[in-house]
Amino acid sequence: MKNVVLLGSTGSIGTSTLKVVEDLPDRLRLIGLAAGGNAALLAEQAQRHRPQAVSLADPAAASALAGQLPGIAVHAGAEGLIQLATLPEADIVLIAIVGTAGLAPALAAIRAGKDIAVASKEILVMAGEIVMSEARRHGVQVLAVDSEHSAIFQCLQDKPGASVRRLILTASGGPFRTTLREAFDGITVEQALKHPSWVMGRKITIDSATLFNKGLEMIEARWLFDIEMARVDVIVHPQSIVHSMVEFVDGSILAQLSTPDMCLPIQIALCHPDRLPSARVQTDFARVGSLTFENPDHDRFPSLALARRAGEVGGTLPAVLNAANEVAVERFCRRELSFPGIAATVTRVMDAHAVVGNPTLEQILEADRWAREAAAV
Ligand code: NDP
Repeated sequence: MKNVVLLGSTGSIGTSTLKVVEDLPDRLRLIGLAAGGNAALLAEQAQRHRPQAVSLADPAAASALAGQLPGIAVHAGAEGLIQLATLPEADIVLIAIVGTAGLAPALAAIRAGKDIAVASKEILVMAGEIVMSEARRHGVQVLAVDSEHSAIFQCLQDKPGASVRRLILTASGGPFRTTLREAFDGITVEQALKHPSWVMGRKITIDSATLFNKGLEMIEARWLFDIEMARVDVIVHPQSIVHSMVEFVDGSILAQLSTPDMCLPIQIALCHPDRLPSARVQTDFARVGSLTFENPDHDRFPSLALARRAGEVGGTLPAVLNAANEVAVERFCRRELSFPGIAATVTRVMDAHAVVGNPTLEQILEADRWAREAAAV
């Protein structure tokens, strides 16, 4: 039995995680649940799972919740996330908070000797070097929840880095894969929120449309698997059946395939190293028909080259890319920026940034703050 703390329980990954836990009641138990503002759903989840503790971002909402959950500790804010991430009984902390609020609890969990399962890719994009070196120092595992990184993890099976020629991340291509460049200025928020293969939170759905999501994943892969950016490639695969691949030095390629369902990588991360039965994912190849692949179009999707540059330069630049993109996505959703304006804003902010090499956590957080301000105007 593993005791699980889930940060971001009311979101898309969070609710899928609850399904996985409910599928495997003899193996997984939720002992901590944290959410942002959705107190009603958090209360319902807590009544069903009876965790030791819950947390909400807003202290006033947390006080109101306390009355409804006798016997369950109710925490609040950034401190509440740390309280949950370091619960003495926790074996693994799954971080599925959108944005950067997951970084401090991730580090706190690692320092308290907990394995972490990371959905919030922002954590590894901003501070991958620090997170991975702390994990090594404390002898804990950083497990991937992203379907692409879960696929690579499954294909690698602890093979040494020297046996890998390159990692090949697959991208669905998003809703504008075949849209002509001339039409990009007119893309609306509603159009960008319609993803062809995955149902996800709002921010990651827009990132999938710009391919910034894949860019962030390239940097995430670089840290998770300790491989240089030059050996991380992207291929567009519209069917989203091949979740990613590893090409070995002898030319052999291993891939992980299944119909898309985030419950699968979540289960793999939470149950690692075991493989447990699940009836959720059934793949019917005859129904899928064909699997196709094409190169990404860097002219319409400059996000991939921006991410490669950020990952290659390193230092504070990935944090700047991440923060500028987050603000630009919010501005696009408020209709202040056009769709191509998202990448243009990220380019402008990256160009203006004086990169700090080998940054401390404080310098990373400072670069994040600076980039947010720079991207807001
Ligand atoms: P959602 O927007 O659906 O959910 C975000 C979650 O974070 C919600 O539970 C929200 O709570 C919570 N939250 C936000 N701010 C805080 C805070 N300050 N303190 C505590 N909780 C907070 O996002 P997704 O589930 O789609 O994505 C979560 C992360 O997982 C992202 O980093 C994304 O990139 C990554 N990811 C998502 C995938 C997917 O399929 N959705 C796939 C791979 C990675 P509330 O709703 O109560 O405000």
